[in-house]
Amino acid sequence: MSTNTTSTYSDFHLQFIAGEWQTGKDDSTNTNTNPYNGDTLVEIQQATKDQLNEAYDAATQAQEAWAKQTPAARAAVLYKVVNILDQRQEEIVDWLIKESGSTRIKAMVEFGATRAITLEAATFPNRVHGEIRPSNTPGKENFIYREPIGVVAVISPWNFPLHLTQRSIAPALALGNAVVLKPASDTPVTGGLLLAKVFEEAGLPKGLLNVVVGSGSEIGDAIVEHKASSFVSFTGSTSVGKHIGELANGGEHIKQVALELGGNSPFVVLKDADIDQAVKAAVFGKFLHQGQICMAINRIIVENEVYDEFVERFLSHVKTLQVGDPNDQGTAIGPIINEKQVQSLRDKIDEAQKEGAKMLLSGEINGQLVPPHVFTEVTREMDIAYNEIFGPLIGIIRAKNEEDALSIANDSMYGLSSAVFTADMQKGLRFARGIRAGMTHINDIPVNDESNVAFGGEKNSGIGRFNGEWVLEEFTRTHWISMQNEPREYPF
Ligand code: NAD
Repeated sequence: MSTNTTSTYSDFHLQFIAGEWQTGKDDSTNTNTNPYNGDTLVEIQQATKDQLNEAYDAATQAQEAWAKQTPAARAAVLYKVVNILDQRQEEIVDWLIKESGSTRIKAMVEFGATRAITLEAATFPNRVHGEIRPSNTPGKENFIYREPIGVVAVISPWNFPLHLTQRSIAPALALGNAVVLKPASDTPVTGGLLLAKVFEEAGLPKGLLNVVVGSGSEIGDAIVEHKASSFVSFTGSTSVGKHIGELANGGEHIKQVALELGGNSPFVVLKDADIDQAVKAAVFGKFLHQGQICMAINRIIVENEVYDEFVERFLSHVKTLQVGDPNDQGTAIGPIINEKQVQSLRDKIDEAQKEGAKMLLSGEINGQLVPPHVFTEVTREMDIAYNEIFGPLIGIIRAKNEEDALSIANDSMYGLSSAVFTADMQKGLRFARGIRAGMTHINDIPVNDESNVAFGGEKNSGIGRFNGEWVLEEFTRTHWISMQNEPREYPF
């Protein structure tokens, strides 16, 4: 199918397999709906295991020639992708709003992050390099090569579908790999098919990027277990991530996995903090994308001396947030992705009250619109604090002092992102270094992503790092090659 820059992309009922737009051959259908108004956006006949195999065969075949292309040729495709993203910004933002329920603000944030990682990835073909290491064996030279892995399996979530897919596939392709991608069922377009259109338009050779839309039961395990891939890049929940990790390293396979999983970011306000600024940050860091972000603030921990003042100012700011149509410029809180997630938030609201948290702010849940809910006198072991919320609910915990605040912040099975507010940068740095997490931001929100800085978590938040040279290493394999330049003496 041909695309040109003047018309908007169409035919999203087809899948991109082996360089062709194909109809899925499974009996089941993915009905893709707008989470705000329930409109059907597209119906996609899902793929079968045979179609997944076809995708892997095509990827395996295409990868060798792609890896042999010059770095400049691979970089050129990535730069072209950046140009097309720019030309089609409005079209892409529109899809993010209608398919994933992104507010306009969030869609723009996501578009910017997607563009940034594509630009970063465009530099990878020329940045990847080997090393020469000394040898203790006379006459030997040691070379360390960095080579493409081959075929990479990518599985991505629905919350930042465009960016969280692109941050795997752009580096993977730039570094000479081929990709078989399964987007989340709620976001098959922004999580995959739309990017396939962009890469196709940019001239990516056929077969290198495959987007397979299928049910978890038909292709979920098969995409991980397929012998053609030796690396699985998964972003999603901790429970599914554990399953993926087991599958990838069970049975006949030992595969490398990168797992970017759930989070429970603490947002700590120490008594010397600028409370106004902390409130503004807390509101944005909690409610951006309705709280459906792995790095979103999941617990607010405030030192006793400023607790009441913080709560009062936080509440009055939250009350000003507009809930509604994500396409409306003024909307801060749009819809929750699906009914199942809404139900899980209803359960969390009930549980918080049962456990004795005080509900200071609530509101009626209207379809998939969930207004902000604020709870105080929350303790660290309550469900609302201990487990990932993924919605516009928040509990505020009182800490006795700085030491207590740190102990509460670290009392989690997760370790993705975190934040601390204080007027004293030295104190902030000490506190930040005491937090067991992959990322901590002093006087800012925990939701941060820069395409050139290591992104990732610890504990149940996963393994591996994205962005910059960290992802460059992840999507290449290390190969030690030695050269024995003179006959070596052996003991026998
Ligand atoms: P999810 O784990 O339900 O799904 C993620 C992906 O896995 C989807 O594509 C889904 O279809 C697929 N999947 C589900 N079961 C599978 C199986 N058995 N085999 C193969 N694939 C399977 O997660 P979600 O609900 O889409 O996303 C929300 C979660 O993702 C939250 O926990 C959030 O914290 C996490 N997340 C983490 C990061 C990060 O960078 N650490 C970023 C965004 C989201």
